[in-house]
Amino acid sequence: MRLLPALLKDAIRTLLRAVVRRPATVRYPEEKIEVPKGFRGQHMIELDKCVGCGLCARDCPSGAIVLVKEPGYSRGLGVPVVDLSKCIFCFQCAESCPKGAISPTQQLAPVASDPHDLVLDFRVVSVSHVGGGGQARQAGGQA
Ligand code: SF4
Ligand code: SF4
Repeated sequence: MRLLPALLKDAIRTLLRAVVRRPATVRYPEEKIEVPKGFRGQHMIELDKCVGCGLCARDCPSGAIVLVKEPGYSRGLGVPVVDLSKCIFCFQCAESCPKGAISPTQQLAPVASDPHDLVLDFRVVSVSHVGGGGQARQAGGQA
């Protein structure tokens, strides 16, 4: 019979602790969290370094990269376009790139209800301005 008061005491202590503590979660995406150093977020692809060799796409374990032909600054097989809805953020693509054109940023992947909005397409950024993290845009047959 001593068990019940002990359990009750424990439950009340747990409840009080939960009330006093700060929540473990944040209201993302309205609230941003500070990411740790070395965090692998959204990709940056420097198109001026890219030679369009396609190694990033070949080695991507989840098939998240396709190379798209782009008149103007497309080289080799084309410009790498990343589908963040497939990406597992392993950054094998960065390891495989012989030109060091891919690197992770501290930027969290965007939130979207439509997976097409998670296509990271650097073709919308002129080569001289590449470096700001690119932007996702509707794939809609463009990638
Ligand atoms: S981070 Fe990994 S899964 Fe994502 S595109 Fe690069 S190789 Fe593919
Ligand atoms: S591996 Fe590097 S150089 Fe080759 S296509 Fe991918 S980003 Fe461009």
